[in-house]
Amino acid sequence: MTTEWRSKANCLGTDPELFFPTDSRAENRLEVADICGNCTVSAECRGFADQSQPTRAHGIWGGLSVEERKRLRETKGTA
Ligand code: SF4
Repeated sequence: MTTEWRSKANCLGTDPELFFPTDSRAENRLEVADICGNCTVSAECRGFADQSQPTRAHGIWGGLSVEERKRLRETKGTA
């Protein structure tokens, strides 16, 4: 599994706490949505998390929370 996509991540240099929040403050989600929404490697990021479970089951990957990624996998029939 290649991780070259990480060098193109829009979140490089940002506070990791934004992506692994200890609470679900709305302002965090809005900031993350802005960062991830403009990221050109969000699909790779989400795929990496999905393929790395349970190690990377937590946090926001590809702009989606744990619950959002789970729902997406269920919708696609890949859960
Ligand atoms: S989609 Fe992934 S790589 Fe891109 S900014 Fe969000 S957390 Fe970072």
